[in-house]
Amino acid sequence: MAATVPAITLNNGVQMPKLGLGVFQMSDQEVLDTIPVALDAGYRLIDTASRYYNEKALGQALARTDVAREELFVTTKLWFKDHGYKQTKEAFQVSLDNLGLDYLDLYLIHQPFGDYYGSWRAMEELLDEGRIRAIGVSNFFDDRYADLVAHHRVVPAVNQRETHPFNQQTATQELLAKHGTVLQAWGPLGQGNPEILGHPVLAEIAEAHGRSLPQVILRWLVQRGVALVAKSTRIERLRQNAAVFDFELTDEEMARIAALDQRKAGGEFDHRDPRMLELLLTLD
Ligand code: NDP
Repeated sequence: MAATVPAITLNNGVQMPKLGLGVFQMSDQEVLDTIPVALDAGYRLIDTASRYYNEKALGQALARTDVAREELFVTTKLWFKDHGYKQTKEAFQVSLDNLGLDYLDLYLIHQPFGDYYGSWRAMEELLDEGRIRAIGVSNFFDDRYADLVAHHRVVPAVNQRETHPFNQQTATQELLAKHGTVLQAWGPLGQGNPEILGHPVLAEIAEAHGRSLPQVILRWLVQRGVALVAKSTRIERLRQNAAVFDFELTDEEMARIAALDQRKAGGEFDHRDPRMLELLLTLD
């Protein structure tokens, strides 16, 4: 049976599903195979990025579905090499054409590097013109987020950040909430980190509820009011990951998971590490 994913209301009144499918690192074929299965399982939010190089495949998959456009919620992201006012408008149109859409639900600045102020002004205009329903950021650390908010008319609807039991982002969530921005978790399952997916505390809580460990993690995020995008190409996991709206963790269980926080980036991506920018600059 398809899960019903509830929505969260963004700061401009737009309704965004609390849980979506991320297609990072999916090949075109995986996107074509996975999207119909995910839509059948109840997913409506699909998260991609120009840098994932699979927008066209996603567009093809969406063109084949009979799910109404207004039920879908499509997110893509602007790559930092396209930052700047003019380049952003061009990159937006390329993404939209790749996706075969005439409007986008959510457009995110992927990384806080380069002239993202020019980009934000372009995105504000695209929002005003109705070409995007909501605009937001991704990987914006608190200082960069606060500065962007202080100097612009439109407050980001979403900040997509790495968020999972070892990197919980509680202070960030508080800051974002103060301005009405939703924290959306990327890598909610720690990108498959076995230390998270095999953690004894999480395993114990999962057993107590007769649920899988990943479901406990996703439920913990939902219960905190954190939106999320998780990735899987496997049908059973896709179904399982979406089925987290019919059980509840106790306050004690929430506290036990809160105690697992290590407050640090889990994998190769740390947007505060200058070496990361150096690495990204070497890419095309
Ligand atoms: P996730 O935390 O979603 O983990 C994905 C990994 O977990 C895959 O290896 C997947 O394998 C495995 N997995 C998924 N479900 C289960 C399950 N139920 N049981 C066991 N293993 C499972 O990592 P992602 O990096 O994919 O993050 C999710 C999305 O966030 C991305 O797809 C992307 O859209 C977004 N993202 C955004 C970033 C940004 O900079 N803004 C950076 C990184 C991600 P399998 O597919 O084989 O099931």
